[in-house]
Amino acid sequence: MDVDAVVAGAGAAGLSAAIAAAQAGRSVLVLEQSETFREGCCTSMSTAMIPAAGTRWQREAEVEDSAATFAADIAAKTKGSADPVVARALTEVGPALVDWLADRCAVPLELVTDFLYPGHSQLRCHTVADRAGSTLLRLLLEAAQRTDGLELVAPMRLVDVELDGDGAVRVAIAETPDGARERVDTRSVVLATCGFGANAELVRRYCPEIVGGLYHGGDGANGDGLLIGQRLGADTAYLDAYQGHGSVADPHSVIVTWATVVHGGVIVNARGERFGDESTGYSEFARQVIAQPGAHAWTVIDDRIEATLEPFADWQRLRAAGAIRRAGDTEELAALIGAAPEELAATLAAAAAQVHGTAAAPDPFGRTAWEAPLRAPYVAVRIVGALFHTQGGLRTDGAARVLRGGRPLAGLYAAGGAAQGISGHGADGYLAGNGLLGALGLGYLAGVSLSL
Ligand SMILES: Cc1cc2nc3c(=O)[nH]c(=O)nc-3n(C[C@H](O)[C@H](O)[C@H](O)COP(=O)(O)OP(=O)(O)OC[C@H]3O[C@@H](n4cnc5c(N)ncnc54)[C@H](O)[C@@H]3O)c2cc1C
Repeated sequence: MDVDAVVAGAGAAGLSAAIAAAQAGRSVLVLEQSETFREGCCTSMSTAMIPAAGTRWQREAEVEDSAATFAADIAAKTKGSADPVVARALTEVGPALVDWLADRCAVPLELVTDFLYPGHSQLRCHTVADRAGSTLLRLLLEAAQRTDGLELVAPMRLVDVELDGDGAVRVAIAETPDGARERVDTRSVVLATCGFGANAELVRRYCPEIVGGLYHGGDGANGDGLLIGQRLGADTAYLDAYQGHGSVADPHSVIVTWATVVHGGVIVNARGERFGDESTGYSEFARQVIAQPGAHAWTVIDDRIEATLEPFADWQRLRAAGAIRRAGDTEELAALIGAAPEELAATLAAAAAQVHGTAAAPDPFGRTAWEAPLRAPYVAVRIVGALFHTQGGLRTDGAARVLRGGRPLAGLYAAGGAAQGISGHGADGYLAGNGLLGALGLGYLAGVSLSL
């Protein structure tokens, strides 16, 4: 078999690379190892938030934004530690990327205008109507199906890549679940296999601080792209970086959107105490939740906040699963949480004093963003901290070309979780949406650049 490009992985990264390359007239074979990837990959599990700055949706909503403003937000959140080349490429490609998704892939996008994720200075998250990654993935798969020259085979796993005597990609080796191998002649391979969140050994090696958290990411994120690239001598970067999440419903394993906090919710532990600045961001909050007694906590909101959560498919899933608990007053809430009523009442009173500006001292955790005070009756969800996906991987340039010794390895590309992200190190630098941006953005750039 002989194709122009082999793409490993049928998530956001792989599909955007494959569609862009096939639209440019290339023959593309997409290999997907999992039969259940439509529900089980990171893209399908995501909230489908795609940040892009300077888009037509923003202009319609009179939001003033630019790639430079977005890049400045990334620099602020990562304290200047994000890869500048890739951050620049992804912030600059944003408007073309969302246009391409809407116009050439028929993914209807809308701008999220009802809340701002921590760290984004402007409304720039674009999403699908139900804010569900499974919808985004389905639409991308439908676009792939309509695209001539693109074939998707599942289950089929990329197990290796061979180079020719000049060090350029020559053969992709694929394997069926029963171990039958096939050699595919090709000049381009896109590694879009996601990160290594599902590989406990690699997580222990590279991201030890999140060991102990729930893994709530794609089951196919076993590090294949990283390991194949490493065998070829590729450069790697930011292997300690990951996206955590400080509020996943326990034991239901459904995201409790951080919009709860943005709209004024608080997170308390089993003693009824707040323990951090919830407004900094959900990624870094994961390890704080893990450190609490019993390694769990509670998101506490009220009816006003709950009304804003209706657009989230995940909130409907939580409701259907019985994860959303209600308490008429502080006493009932304390009984639900297992906390002492006076402790919880003091916590909620202190938070309200911060909102009203009547507190004697600043918030001990440094929170300054409060939308409105919480009012009984309360709504609460028991939560745990989780690892969603890793943000380190193969080092690429701004065209998604994998680097070896600082120079492009001819024909090898990486996108999404298989590539380095733009989140700096650890969990603190992750800005909402930068996972999908790295997947869709680097995927699209890989598809375009391998077609040149
Ligand atoms: C719960 C959750 C919520 C999230 N919410 C958001 C959000 O709202 N916005 C955002 O930007 N990011 C979000 N993220 C992160 C985002 O989902 C990921 O960054 C992004 O989807 C990664 O895309 P990908 O294509 O690299 O990986 P995936 O979507 O996981 O796709 C990779 C595919 O590769 C396949 N594969 C693996 N190895 C091989 C192999 N050797 N051969 C063939 N196939 C292989 C896997 O089976 C998988 O289907 C979230 C993540 C999670 C888990």
